[in-house]
Amino acid sequence: MSKAQWALELKDVRKSFESRGGAKEVLGGISLSVRDGEFVSIIGPSGSGKTTLFQLIGGLAPLSGGEVWMDGRNTTGHRGHIAYMPQQASLMPWRTVRGNIELALQIAGIDRKQARAKATDWLARIELDAYADSYPHALSGGMQQRISFLRALLSPQPFMLLDEPFGALDALTRQQMQQWLLTIWEANRRSVLLVTHSIEEALLLSDRIIVLSAAPAVIVDEIVVPFARPRKESLWTDPQFNA
Ligand code: ADP
Repeated sequence: MSKAQWALELKDVRKSFESRGGAKEVLGGISLSVRDGEFVSIIGPSGSGKTTLFQLIGGLAPLSGGEVWMDGRNTTGHRGHIAYMPQQASLMPWRTVRGNIELALQIAGIDRKQARAKATDWLARIELDAYADSYPHALSGGMQQRISFLRALLSPQPFMLLDEPFGALDALTRQQMQQWLLTIWEANRRSVLLVTHSIEEALLLSDRIIVLSAAPAVIVDEIVVPFARPRKESLWTDPQFNA
C-alpha cells in the first residue's frame, strides 16, 4: 500500500467550550498538513489552544467543527493513532521504572525477554539505572519526564505529539533531551508535532514552525526553517537502540 502524501491533515478544525456566559471559541479554524517524517513545531501564546488542538488530534475530546485525517484516512474523534506525550509525566505508578520501560518495549512488539535486556540498556542510556527498581513517585519530576519521553519515543505509533516535553527539565537535561530526540528522530523519521514556548528550540528541532494567534486561535504565520538541522554526534551509535 502506498503511503499517503500527508501524515496529518487538519481541515478547518474548530473548538468551542460551553460556559455559563455562552460558548467560548478556542480554536477558530485550523488547517494544516504535515508530511510523512516532517518535524513541525507550534508556537503560540499561553491559552491559545495548543493543548486543546492536541487533544482533538488524539481523539481525546470532540471537535466543534472540521476534520482530522491521518495517513489519508479520516480519523476525526478516533483514538490510538498517535503517541502523545503530555506536559506532566504519565507513568504507571504501580510499575517500577524498569517495568514502565519494559511495557513500552513490549507494546512496540519486542518480546518479553528481549524487552528486559533492552530496558537495561535504555536505563543506562538515560542514566537512571540506579532507579530501575524504584517506583515513579520516588523520582524527581525531571527524571519522570525523561522516562515518559523515552516511552513516547519507543511507541509504535508513527505520529508523535509532544506538548512542551522539555518544560520541566533543567537547562542541561533539556539540551541532552533535545539531542536524544533529534537522534532518534533522524533514525526513525517519524512525523512530529511539538508544542514549545521557545523559538530557539523550534529552530533547532523543526522543519517548519506554525505560529498561532491568541484564542480563538488561527494560524498567523508559518516559517520554513531555512537552514539544515545541525548534525550532532549520535548518542546512539549502536543501531539496536534505534528501536
Ligand atoms: P495552551 O495549551 O495554548 O496554553 P489550552 O488548550 O490549554 O491552551 O487552553 C486554551 C483555552 O481553552 C484556555 O482559555 C482554557 O481555559 C480553555 N479550556 C481548555 N480546556 C477547557 C475545558 N475543558 N473547558 C473549558 N475551557 C477550557
